Amino acid sequence: MSPFDELCSHARASAILESIESVLGWDERTYMPEAAGAYRAEQMTFVSGLIHRRRTDPRLGELLAQLTGSDLAKDPHSDAGTTIRQLKRDYDKRIKLPQELVEELTRASVLGQQAWVKARAADDYASFAPHVEKLFSLVRQRAEYLGYKDHPYDALLDDFEPWAKTADVAKVLAALRDELAPLVQAIMQSGRRAPVEILSRKYPKAAQESFGKAAAAAIGFDFQRGRLDVTHHPFCSGMGPNDCRITTRYDEQFFPSAFFGTLHEAGHGIYDQGLRTEQFGLPPGSFVSLGIHESQSRMWENLVGRNRAFWQFFFPQFTAAFGEASRGVSLDEFYWAINGVAPSLIRVEADEATYNLHIIIRFELEQALLTGDLPVADVPAAWKEKYRKYLGIEPPNDKDGCLQDVHWSAALIGYFPTYSLGNLYAAQFFEKANAELGGLDQQFARGEFAPLKQWLQKNIHERGQCYAAADLVKLVTGQPLSHAPLMRHLRGKLGPLYGI
Ligand code: ZN
Repeated sequence: MSPFDELCSHARASAILESIESVLGWDERTYMPEAAGAYRAEQMTFVSGLIHRRRTDPRLGELLAQLTGSDLAKDPHSDAGTTIRQLKRDYDKRIKLPQELVEELTRASVLGQQAWVKARAADDYASFAPHVEKLFSLVRQRAEYLGYKDHPYDALLDDFEPWAKTADVAKVLAALRDELAPLVQAIMQSGRRAPVEILSRKYPKAAQESFGKAAAAAIGFDFQRGRLDVTHHPFCSGMGPNDCRITTRYDEQFFPSAFFGTLHEAGHGIYDQGLRTEQFGLPPGSFVSLGIHESQSRMWENLVGRNRAFWQFFFPQFTAAFGEASRGVSLDEFYWAINGVAPSLIRVEADEATYNLHIIIRFELEQALLTGDLPVADVPAAWKEKYRKYLGIEPPNDKDGCLQDVHWSAALIGYFPTYSLGNLYAAQFFEKANAELGGLDQQFARGEFAPLKQWLQKNIHERGQCYAAADLVKLVTGQPLSHAPLMRHLRGKLGPLYGI
């Protein structure tokens, strides 16, 4: 076997173990009986130990040393070049970290999440603060081992958005913040309010399920190669080249939760299903970054699913499915209801416009926590101050303030900005697709979603990791990432609705 073939079969075997871990994880979050939790944790720890051993196998290091600099690695964007570059990158990162630190971080994040659940329920930040202290000190050490040039946050961000730099992300998010905050303010001062009560009528679960599934299938999620199940915290898990699991949760008193959640996860799923199956387990068949993954979910959820043309097609089906709830509601009223903007305290319930302000607040705070500029004890006050400044509201407690997200307790520091990057990438890709495909609105109004899906597959999905996210954006749209397309989209939609 050639060294390159050996490298690929080594990586594919690790991917098999990772997909086994995904099956266990999916089952844990959907159908597993509660009592099975402890043994499932043992199973998953065992498998993840095997994965870590394989991914740091000295033989892998030898093969990569041999292949880096070889002819196969010459074209960095070819499948072979991408495979060698990305596997080397992963290997080099993993072997920099001492085993004790990896284990300590796993332990601290398990304990952190348990403490967070209790602290949140009791609205008791003080009991959670020592865990925040510990977790940030561990990820700081992690950043030191991994190395960085400008900011320790770079090393953490890189796990979620490979090759991205804090300074670049900060720049684009600051530009977004400076235009978004006044837009939200103008909306609040417009005196207009979206008729959101329409969304809180009674929407029977069975009807929501069949309507949501039909919409997911219509936009292109392939149910022959995937499933939709129910969970508490929806997610998408690609666990094989032809096996993508998406999940949702149903609230009979609130229509958007399951419907837009399903479109969101189906968007993630369409990306997974659009990857090249023959490259499964190898970098050319893997997603680029969390930000690019999120751009696909956000595109189908917001740019398509909250588009008026989409509802021109789906509104008759909606009224047929929810006769009682939709009585007396016009398409225009419904469209406004699902696009209402109002500052709120909880990130996961935020609308398309204010959502990014929630992310920017977290991004700013976690950088300050990492450098020590913000003492852990001062987080609640800093949180309130930023909410006042950017959203004009202040949480009355920490439960709906700095204790609302799981991320910090799970050592997922550097993750938040990928949500907003996803929104930015989505708007920029969508603008380009619209220009190239010539009028997506008319297609949506006819129920045609295949052209957009095929465009995304060709330009993004099938490229796997052959380009870093920032380069992919430039390659596909001809421009570097900018806040302008998202602002154009939001102004174009919200301006007429709010008369601003
Ligand atoms: Zn998502």
